[in-house]
Amino acid sequence: MLHGKIALVTGSTRGIGLGIATELARQGCHIGLNGFGEIAEIERLAQDLSRAQGVKTAYYPADLSQPAAIGGMIQSMEADFGAIDILVNNAGIQYVAPLEEFPDAQWEAVLAVNLSAAFHTIKAALPGMKRRGWGRIINIASTHGLVGSEGKAAYVAAKHGLLGLTKVVALETANAGITCNAICPGWVLTPLVEKQIEDLARQQGISPEEAKLAFLREKQPMLQFSTPEDIGAWTAVLCSEAAKTTTGAAFPVDGGWIAR
Ligand code: NAD
Repeated sequence: MLHGKIALVTGSTRGIGLGIATELARQGCHIGLNGFGEIAEIERLAQDLSRAQGVKTAYYPADLSQPAAIGGMIQSMEADFGAIDILVNNAGIQYVAPLEEFPDAQWEAVLAVNLSAAFHTIKAALPGMKRRGWGRIINIASTHGLVGSEGKAAYVAAKHGLLGLTKVVALETANAGITCNAICPGWVLTPLVEKQIEDLARQQGISPEEAKLAFLREKQPMLQFSTPEDIGAWTAVLCSEAAKTTTGAAFPVDGGWIAR
């Protein structure tokens, strides 16, 4: 159990991040939520989580493509809760196009949110973790941190970079009571992937169900999606006492994707 720990989960207003925030709250962590969405809906989400699990929650609307906003979010959360013990860098975006047609602005946007934001959150949160002699940093990468796919230049580059960052942070914190690891999900059925499924269904004139199966068949030998709850459970394991000597590692949760 992680009773009383204080966790910031970026991009936790929906999808995998919400699955992680929910599991960490279930384990007794106070939670900082972050991400886009309808403010009233997010406030309700924060209240529901707080009531259901008996923990404190707060929402930080920082846009992670803006380094100054990231600094402000870390400062505010440390002021509100007194610490950040667990940092989960989960927020991410996708853009799909062949390299020669890949818009420069989309390259910059994907790198900013999927890679640079993690550098900035870690840089800002580390001093507090070092002072307290305890910290857990979990970066949500992807199978695309380990292998490539056509059309995803920015995403694959960012996720490979995130695994490199994970290793450096692990080395620099090896004797500070802090660990830094990455989780590499394969397909998880969230809005990020649903959009790609809709695009494929439209392009090929097939049903969304057929498009889902096509996605799985192409990459994931185990023909089922992982869930946000699965990734939440893996995150909790990496925060646990049993994982105190696990650092600098990347854990695929991918139905056999990279075993091929
Ligand atoms: P999602 O689109 O459902 O959720 C993304 C979250 O990030 C949302 O809360 C969104 O508001 C937030 N976000 C996006 N841009 C932001 C910004 N600039 N500032 C603050 N918040 C921002 O996506 P998801 O599928 O839940 O993905 C979560 C993470 O998991 C991402 O890093 C993604 O790359 C990774 N991942 C997803 C899958 C999958 O199959 N869904 C697979 C591997 C890795």
